Amino acid sequence: MQVTKNSGTDAAATSEPKKADSSAIELESVTRRFGQVEALSCVSLCINRGEFFSLLGPSGCGKTTLLRIVAGLDLPDEGAVRIGGVNVHDVPAHRRPVNTVFQSYALFPHLVVFDNIAFGLRMKKVSSSAIAERVKRVMAVVEIASLADRKPSQLSGGQKQRVALARAIVNEPQVLLLDEPLGALDLKLRKQLQVELHQLQRRLGITFVYVTHDQDEALTMSDRIAIMNHGRIEQLGAPEELYERPRRRFVAQFLGSCNLLGGAVKSRDGSVVSVQTGVGVLKVDLGAQMPDAVQRGYLALAIRPEKVVLDPAGAGINCVRARIEATVYSGAETQYLLRCGEHPLKACLMNATAGRPGLRVGQEVGVYLPPDGLIPLED
Ligand code: ATP
Repeated sequence: MQVTKNSGTDAAATSEPKKADSSAIELESVTRRFGQVEALSCVSLCINRGEFFSLLGPSGCGKTTLLRIVAGLDLPDEGAVRIGGVNVHDVPAHRRPVNTVFQSYALFPHLVVFDNIAFGLRMKKVSSSAIAERVKRVMAVVEIASLADRKPSQLSGGQKQRVALARAIVNEPQVLLLDEPLGALDLKLRKQLQVELHQLQRRLGITFVYVTHDQDEALTMSDRIAIMNHGRIEQLGAPEELYERPRRRFVAQFLGSCNLLGGAVKSRDGSVVSVQTGVGVLKVDLGAQMPDAVQRGYLALAIRPEKVVLDPAGAGINCVRARIEATVYSGAETQYLLRCGEHPLKACLMNATAGRPGLRVGQEVGVYLPPDGLIPLED
């Protein structure tokens, strides 16, 4: 984890008047090109003060480019960036009220932990008594008080991560930008630090902008997530909203596992439409969504594996017959890989009782796809 410059509480100078609103960061139609590659394509977004906001997406989708532009390490070709209501186009990186924490630690190897954390404050000529007080407080917050006299080479990966974090927050930035900060850690430590980082953000009240390609990390830590693809924001919302109501195929597939179905819309009765899919006619409750579903003709659908209900004797509306082709036991849950005619389906059941449920490979079962579990997609 590497920490870049910081301006602490410096006010970012600009000629544009400061806007009084609750947004920490605003991007307005930001575009960044590298030769033929459009790393960001007209991205607009607003991150609220005190929010834990994640940028999630596959490799190369533009997450780091966006973060670097907010940090002032790169400039957009078009569009505007505002931090705390101030247009920061002419504000250099070291004067922006943000700190950036990267995946590589980049601690000063010859300095002990205390001095690594104190470094930025010394550069800013803060008094030594204030430095001692602030560094000690921050070390207590990230629980490394006992490591003050160690050199980085005497620390574990997780401890180095905490030092880098302490070095970032000791400057009291308005916004902390974190680029895959837990990426170099093993899974167990990563899970532990995810929880701690989330609690820390809540305690400090600093706006966190967190880049990750790990969907579980984004889901568990964030107030809101922007899912990015090819330099654009595909969908932005709270974790539950994105998982339960993805608007498009990309989001449905990127965030968790899903079955994709789809077919011709046959009829509509109030909010419920009948769709002729590859596994049979399914009724879907659209609620207030897609009033033009019948006119569209075709409707793409997704359903999460855990919403699929297996019942050996199942029959009736939205129940199709399928054969169990394989099962994957993973402790808390079992995945069932099913085939309905030519169509593959996945179901996931919690292993809520001791022993395995009486479902075996080769068996034919009823597969119930509840109308309110079927998600209509726009593409
Ligand atoms: P990852 O998860 O792999 O770090 P990312 O989502 O952070 O990916 P970016 O690093 O923002 O993606 O890159 C977005 C696109 O811009 C990619 O196609 C990348 O190759 C390209 N790109 C980024 N920086 C440069 C550069 N300095 N010169 C040329 N192309 C670049």
